[in-house]
Amino acid sequence: MLDAPVLQLHGVGEERARELAGLGIETIRDLLEYFPTRYEDYRVKDLTEVKDGERVTLSGTVYSEPSVRFFGKKKSRISVRLVIDKVVVTAVWFNQTFVKKQLAPGKEIIVTGKWDKHKLQIVVSEMTESGSQRAKTRAELAPVYPLGGEITHTLLRKLIERALQQYGGEINEILPAELVARYRLMPRYGAIQAIHFPQDFDDGKQARRRLMFEELFLFQLKMQAHRRLTRKQQIGVAQAIPMDSLRDFIRSLPFPLTGAQKRVIQEILTDMRAEYAMNRLLQGDVGSGKTVVAAIALYATVKAGFQGALMVPTEILAEQHLQSLQAVLAPLGLQIALLSGSLTGKRRRETIASLQMGLIDIVVGTHALIQEDVFFHRLGLVITDEQHRFGVEQRRILRNKGLSPDVLFMTATPIPRTLAITAFGDMDVSTIDEMPAGRKPVETSWAKHEQFPFILEKLRSELAKGRQAYVICPLIEESEKLDVQNAIDLHAQLTQYFASAFRVGLMHGRLPAKEKDAVMQAFASGEIHVLVSTTVVEVGVNVPNATCMIIYDAERFGLAQLHQLRGRVGRGAEQSYCYLIADPKTEIGKERMQVMCETNDGFELSQRDLELRGPGDFFGTKQSGLPEFKIADLLSDYKALEVARNEATQLIAQESFWHEERYAELRDYLQREGVLEGLVFD
Ligand code: ADP
Ligand code: MG
Repeated sequence: MLDAPVLQLHGVGEERARELAGLGIETIRDLLEYFPTRYEDYRVKDLTEVKDGERVTLSGTVYSEPSVRFFGKKKSRISVRLVIDKVVVTAVWFNQTFVKKQLAPGKEIIVTGKWDKHKLQIVVSEMTESGSQRAKTRAELAPVYPLGGEITHTLLRKLIERALQQYGGEINEILPAELVARYRLMPRYGAIQAIHFPQDFDDGKQARRRLMFEELFLFQLKMQAHRRLTRKQQIGVAQAIPMDSLRDFIRSLPFPLTGAQKRVIQEILTDMRAEYAMNRLLQGDVGSGKTVVAAIALYATVKAGFQGALMVPTEILAEQHLQSLQAVLAPLGLQIALLSGSLTGKRRRETIASLQMGLIDIVVGTHALIQEDVFFHRLGLVITDEQHRFGVEQRRILRNKGLSPDVLFMTATPIPRTLAITAFGDMDVSTIDEMPAGRKPVETSWAKHEQFPFILEKLRSELAKGRQAYVICPLIEESEKLDVQNAIDLHAQLTQYFASAFRVGLMHGRLPAKEKDAVMQAFASGEIHVLVSTTVVEVGVNVPNATCMIIYDAERFGLAQLHQLRGRVGRGAEQSYCYLIADPKTEIGKERMQVMCETNDGFELSQRDLELRGPGDFFGTKQSGLPEFKIADLLSDYKALEVARNEATQLIAQESFWHEERYAELRDYLQREGVLEGLVFD
């Protein structure tokens, strides 16, 4: 049984089992699937191929008597001359006096260590005698595992070898034979054997390729099966949307919708009317007009007799959304309320009671929205805006209240395709890939700190034209540790600089909510001309008259974040400008500033960001919803990811998948992963 505990294995007792569990290894299967991250190369190299500082294995003949020096009690240094291909080099051992007796002149030895090209010297970490038993049995490619605790490489290799001997026969092929053939994959048993004990580099590479594909394929199969089965279940609400009144509403908007907006609205409405619960991601660059799409969908759900909820990550954003929804929907008689964390006591109780009685049509708020004590009269649609992943847990909370609403997840972070189909693979995706007409791309430039005075003059001339500006900096107040600009100082500096000519406001996360509102209000109404702020204005804030975005110490922000900040300007008809003030010290830092100046396209930026930072960092935190892969790498294996997705989608669309014997292993897998749990299908 592959699912037997490792304790079953000869040589593993309670103590060892505990240590293995620390590495996440509990069953035989876990052990066999504990893959190395790389291989240590013990193949003997030619001196001419070796680069300075490289870890290398060399073979040579001892030429001199070893010389030994001691430092203090425990430290020692042995050196000896070696002849390698007629070149005399020095081999050095630190604190390994026991090697001395093996170093008689004329002996042939194989040493592994770090090469110093200038001194013609190798600092040896491992040595074997040529022709010895150890030299013969040592793998030329030794797998390197992520280890911890008391588990050593030698022990792990021994256990894996033993597990392969005892249980290897139970390693069944899981991939359909047609895929193994089509992509020339190693069979499963062979791949597991070869990833741990490769015969050569190519063998290891092929094993990795096979297991990587398997991992991505199984992952995609899980996603696609989940998606398909939840649809088939039809646990959702079929909303009967009166299309005439929806059309009237759209016509009453102050602008015609873009083609892309119309398309995504169509996709959303189709889901809402269907009997399955919508699970859709709406992505669109900053300023592409997602808010109005949300408003239309919310209006539709209310007209169909349901309630809608809009969930956002911050209170500022909640209030802003409340205002913009109220502006278009309140005149039509819809009741819209705020339910945020700051709402407490009697007012909170009243709001919750009205929600439950159905007196409120649309509720806007932070995560407080779906807390245990909040009940709805008839919830039809939940929209979440910006990074607020509406995950399994949130769905469970709602399901426990007897609700399975349609869900729309909006994001302005253009997610590179590979990440989108990984993190959101169980969702349908709608994309707004077109900007409202008349927008001029923001002109972005990068300046050094010493050029700040010139930027301020540019700023002054924009303000003189009646425009407004944001100045963003990373910190709220002065920090001893970091030499970066802070909002409070910069606010004081600019207030003095513009004196009576223009008003400068200050905004940061530590201001009381009331004051934040007042400042935002004053900026929106044009009373304040320049807003000095931390990144609290990053998402959603909409003041079309602002044409200038100055970002101080821009190297301290990620590309996605810079793009978000830049998206605060360029929202009206006027030309807008973005100035990045930065003296980046690294090449990557410089490249990031250049990329920002080169492109306004969020998708391109996010792809570049992904390449510069890697997938783990892309969303900033672990809460991204990105799965952790054992062996696949989203950056380098993205092609395989797409292939795996297509194959998985096609496979589950076949009727035969659900009953034929040859897919039993895969169905077992889905069962183990809980995808089939509680689902009925024909
Ligand atoms: P997003 O949320 O996608 O960043 P918003 O919904 O805030 O963008 O829209 C940005 C601005 O564009 C708002 O001022 C909005 O009123 C305006 N807008 C949205 N759709 C259109 C359109 N089709 N034509 C003209 N302006 C639009
Ligand atoms: Mg928005």
